Amino acid sequence: MRGLLVGRMQPVHRGHIQVIERILDEVEEVIIGIGSAQVSHSIKDPFTAGERVMMITKALAENNVDASRYYVIPVQDIECNSIWVAHMEMLTPPFEHVYSGNPLVQRLFTEKGYQVTEPPLFNRKSYSGTEVRRRMLSGDKWEELVPQSVIKAINEIDGISRIKQLARREV
Ligand code: ATP
Ligand code: MG
Repeated sequence: MRGLLVGRMQPVHRGHIQVIERILDEVEEVIIGIGSAQVSHSIKDPFTAGERVMMITKALAENNVDASRYYVIPVQDIECNSIWVAHMEMLTPPFEHVYSGNPLVQRLFTEKGYQVTEPPLFNRKSYSGTEVRRRMLSGDKWEELVPQSVIKAINEIDGISRIKQLARREV
């Protein structure tokens, strides 16, 4: 059986890795959809789809997840919720099971007959993209919330300087 998890992953954090490991206890393969793939260089969505693919790929390798057990697929947003499931199906290998905490995602897949499960949230107060970005901007310790390989990837692309520059106002 194959499962699907979709998230913007701005950036990838330890919660994502833990939930992916949990999903892989239940299904043979997991499809990781990198949502809002077209968006980058904003405070809410600082990283490109390619940068996020790099982060998740390296973080799963760091955690010894077998590369033959997952697919990482960027997925652009579309205007029409009613055909979003078909859009996902066009881009991904076939899957039977959807894991999501997002009510809209849950609803859309349930209406199309998929089995939908709400996965548990791990340490959600800290392991959240919103919290990681807040710490990056305020100069607080964000590094403990993400895998080592994600710190390295963010340093490689000068990500902290990017997010701080995006937060400035034009004078
Ligand atoms: P943001 O605050 O930017 O929305 P996020 O932490 O919610 O970031 P997403 O990429 O939106 O990250 O998350 C995608 C999915 O990953 C969520 O719907 C949820 O199923 C799972 N997820 C996110 N954080 C955790 C966590 N701490 N524990 C378990 N699963 C998580
Ligand atoms: Mg979210």
